[in-house]
Amino acid sequence: MPEGRIIKALSGYYYVLDEEKTWQCRARGVFKKRGISPLVGDWVTYDQGENQEGFIQTVADRKTELVRPPIANVEQAFLVFSLAEPVFNPLLLDRFLVHTEGAGLRSIICLSKVDLLRDGYQAIKETYEQIGYPVLATSKKTGEGIQELKALLRNHISVFSGQSGVGKSSLLNEILPGVNLQIGQVSERLRRGKHTTRHVELIPVEGGFVADTPGFSQLDFFDVDPEQLGYHFIDFKPYIADCKFRGCLHISEPGCAVRAALADGQINQQRYDNYAVFLEEIKEDKRRR
Ligand code: GDP
Ligand code: ZN
Repeated sequence: MPEGRIIKALSGYYYVLDEEKTWQCRARGVFKKRGISPLVGDWVTYDQGENQEGFIQTVADRKTELVRPPIANVEQAFLVFSLAEPVFNPLLLDRFLVHTEGAGLRSIICLSKVDLLRDGYQAIKETYEQIGYPVLATSKKTGEGIQELKALLRNHISVFSGQSGVGKSSLLNEILPGVNLQIGQVSERLRRGKHTTRHVELIPVEGGFVADTPGFSQLDFFDVDPEQLGYHFIDFKPYIADCKFRGCLHISEPGCAVRAALADGQINQQRYDNYAVFLEEIKEDKRRR
């Protein structure tokens, strides 16, 4: 049976890309009965009918599943942060990283608009590379980092995330020249994605896909338990097993290996402070509900 990737869902139709052709498909009733529905990003088998129409028969197991926006099988997130306009916000970056870790995605930190400002760039790069995240500097003005960005996109399904104004649309336009999207169009697509549940679409690029809607449009911690939060900090992870108490929150417990690593300089103070902010937020949410 033919196989393909759902790249768009609209009004009950799923658009399945198979090689170069797109098939407008409906899903079999069996999906509804089981209470599941195919998602953009799903790898499916389908029957081919007339006029490029078809029926989705099966959906392959998902590697990952994002909720907002709903996309299956995203592999990596580019977290786009400018150093200036808007100013770099490490709390927001760590917040995104908690979510990408929770979703099981590879994260690539993309420091945008490096033509504007060099100061502080090296420090941020070193901090996050030390933790284990790739950091890429980009500029649409000078073209820096665009080839590297393309190479990283190759054969993967990616989302771009980051607050508005950091240059996500501009970067997408640099890497999607063949798609013929106007700057305004792309920004408009990306912008709308933030506030409404609109339809997400995957755009083919470099043998993979990028979503036309920013990943992680909601950044609350409702799904995270206090004891789990530390595991979403990949720099804490190696130490947690050595904490004296199971369920250690790494704040004031005796024998906490994370705090020992912090005192040792193995864990960055800012990362730890941000962890503590998120932990309070999670506890506060739990108290309120
Ligand atoms: P988005 O909201 O994240 O999609 O950001 P946009 O791509 O719409 O860019 C926001 C503003 O930043 C626009 O005025 C862009 O021209 C500007 N901008 C984007 N990338 C760069 C860059 O690499 N260098 C400079 N100097 N400005 C940029
Ligand atoms: Zn601990």
